[in-house]
Amino acid sequence: MERGSIHVQTENIFPIIKKFLYSDHEIFLRELVSNAVDATQKLKGLAALGEFKGELGDVSIQIAIDKEKKTLTIADKGLGMTGDEVKKYINQVAFSSAGEFLDKFKGVEDGKTIIGHFGLGFYSAFMVADRVEIFTKSYQEAPAVRWECDGSPEFTLEEIEKQDRGTEIVLHINDESLEFLEDHKIRSLLKKYCKFLPIPIQFGEKFLSEEDKKEGKLPEADIVNITDPAWTKQPSSLTDDNYIQFYKELYPFAHEPLFWIHLNVDYPFNLTGILYFPKLNKGYEVEKNKIHLYCNQVFVTDNVGEIVPEYLTLLHGVIDSPDIPLNVSRSYLQSDSNVKKINSHISKKVADKLAELFQKDRAVYEQKWNDIALFVKYGMLSDDKFYERVNASCLLENVENQFFTLEEYKEKIKDAQTDKDGNLVLLYAVDKEQQHSYIQDAQSRGLDVLILNSVIDNHFIQLAESKNEKTQFKRVDADITSNLIPKEETIESVMNDEQKEKLKNSFEEQVDKMQVQVELKPLSPNDAPVLITRNEFMRRMKEMSAMGGGSNMFMMGDLPEQLNLVVNTNHPLNIGLLEKSEEERQKRIKQLYDLALLSQNMLKGEALTNFVKRSFELAI
Ligand code: ADP
Ligand code: MG
Repeated sequence: MERGSIHVQTENIFPIIKKFLYSDHEIFLRELVSNAVDATQKLKGLAALGEFKGELGDVSIQIAIDKEKKTLTIADKGLGMTGDEVKKYINQVAFSSAGEFLDKFKGVEDGKTIIGHFGLGFYSAFMVADRVEIFTKSYQEAPAVRWECDGSPEFTLEEIEKQDRGTEIVLHINDESLEFLEDHKIRSLLKKYCKFLPIPIQFGEKFLSEEDKKEGKLPEADIVNITDPAWTKQPSSLTDDNYIQFYKELYPFAHEPLFWIHLNVDYPFNLTGILYFPKLNKGYEVEKNKIHLYCNQVFVTDNVGEIVPEYLTLLHGVIDSPDIPLNVSRSYLQSDSNVKKINSHISKKVADKLAELFQKDRAVYEQKWNDIALFVKYGMLSDDKFYERVNASCLLENVENQFFTLEEYKEKIKDAQTDKDGNLVLLYAVDKEQQHSYIQDAQSRGLDVLILNSVIDNHFIQLAESKNEKTQFKRVDADITSNLIPKEETIESVMNDEQKEKLKNSFEEQVDKMQVQVELKPLSPNDAPVLITRNEFMRRMKEMSAMGGGSNMFMMGDLPEQLNLVVNTNHPLNIGLLEKSEEERQKRIKQLYDLALLSQNMLKGEALTNFVKRSFELAI
C-alpha cells in the first residue's frame, strides 16, 4: 500500500471546501454523476475510434444507498483510472486548481457555479462524507486500485481485485448529512440534476455483491433519466406530439404550451434548446424561473436571469450550452460577450417565430393572441430591437373581438377618429361590462373601441404613443365628446349664456367642487343628460403612480380621482330644469348626479342608501 500526502498549497483544503459551499451541499451528487457520465462517454468515444476494442456492455451508471454502512455509491462502467491516473487526476490536478480557485474567489458568495469549473468537482464529495473511497479499474491493462481519503491531506492507494471496468465512488456519509442516505432525497436530486443526462442512470436501494453479479442477477433499480431529451434531437425528427410530450416531462402540471421554438446554434457559440410559449394564466402571477439551463445535459440552474433577457424568462423550456461561463459572478456574466450574443440570438429567434406564425396562420395566431400578448408587449417595452421585430405582428383587439395590427387599425379609424388637431384618437375600454354605457355611446357615434385590459397596457399605450406620431389613446370614459364628434354633427346649443350660467351654478351646488368639475356641452338630445368623464392624463398619472411607475413626485396615487360631470345642454330634461323652482331643480339635479355616479358603480354607502330611499319616494 502506498501512502502519500495530497498536494496542496493551502494547509488543509477540506474545512474551506465545507465552509465555502456550505449552502449547497447537494451539488456533490451532480458533480460525481457527471464525472461518471464523462468517463462513460470518453470510453464510448475511444470505442468509436477503435482505441478500445473490448465489449462496452451495459454502461448504465448505478447509484445505491446502504443505510447500515452509511454509504452512498456511484458506480460507472466508463474508462476507469490506473493508479498513476488516480495520482495525477485526483491528487494533483484537483488540488492545484483548488489553489487557484481559492485565490480567485476568496470573497465570492455563490460557490456553487464555480465548483465544477475548477476541478473541485470530485472533492465536493467531502461536503457530505468524512471518508471517500475510489475503486477503479482502467480499460487499459493495469491493476485495479483503491484510493481512500478521510478529509485530511493524507491519502492511501493500493492495488485490489476488481471484476468490472470502471469506477466506483463510495461516500461514507457524515453525521450532518444523513439525509443523503434517504431514498427520496437522492431520487429528487437525481430528478433535479440528472434527469436528462445522456447515459442511463439506475437508482436502487441495494447494491449487488460480487457473488450476485457472478450469478448474473440484475440490480433492483430503475432508470431515472431520459438520455435523449427532445432538444438534443433534430427538429425534423420531432412531431408536435413529441414537443408537447417533452413539455409535460418538464412541467407535469402546466397547461399545454401554445407553441415552441427549437434552438440550434453552432456558431459563434454552441446552444441548443427548446423554448415554449406557455399559456399564461389570467391571474398575472407570472411564473418565472421556468427556463432550465443545462450544460451538456447537466442541469445547472433555473435562474437564467443573466443569460436571457428579463421578458424572455416568461417563456418555459430548456437551454443547453457548453459556452455559457458558469464560473463567475453575476455582474461578469452580464458583460460577457457570449452571453450578450446568446441573449440577442434568442430574442431574435423568438421574434422571428412570432412573425412567422402571424404570417403563416393568422387565424390561429389571433386565437392565441390573448395568451401571448402580455409577453409580446413586455418584450416590446423592454427591448427596442424586439419592438422593431414584432411590431408588425402585435395585435389590437376591439370590443367586437376583431383583431388588427396597428397599421390596419389606423387605416380603419382614420376618417372617424381624427380630432381637430389632426391626432388619431384610439379609444379603448378596460372593462366591457363596467364601461358598457360609454362603449355604446362611442359606437353610436360611429367610433371604434379597443379592449386593453391587461396590467401592462398602461405602459404599452405610452410606448405606442411615443413610437407613433400624432397617435393618442383615450379611455372610453375620457372626455371624447368634445373633439371627436364628427364636425358635421356638431350641434348648436339651444340655451343662451344666461340659462347656461344658471344651470351650471345649480349643478355645482350638488357636487364636491374639489373633485368634480361641471362642464356644459351641447350634445345631441338623444345623448345622456349627464355623463361622468375622466381626464385621460390625470387618470393615467394616478394609475402609473399607484403602480409604482411614472413620476412619483406628485404622489398622485393618494389623490382622489378627478371627474368631469358633463351636462348635456340640449337634453330636454336639462332644458326643463330651467323652468323649475330652485328647490325642485336641486332635488332633480341631485337625482341626476347620483344616477350618473350609479351607472359608474361609484355610488356607495350612505349616498347609495339615500338614493334608493329617494327613488322609492319618487316612485309613489
Ligand atoms: P473535472 O471533472 O472538472 O475534470 P473533477 O474534480 O470532477 O474535475 O474530476 C477530476 C478528474 O478525475 C477528472 O477530470 C477525471 O480525470 C477523474 N475522474 C473523476 N471521476 C472519474 C470517474 N468516475 N471515472 C474516471 N475518471 C474520473
Ligand atoms: Mg467533474
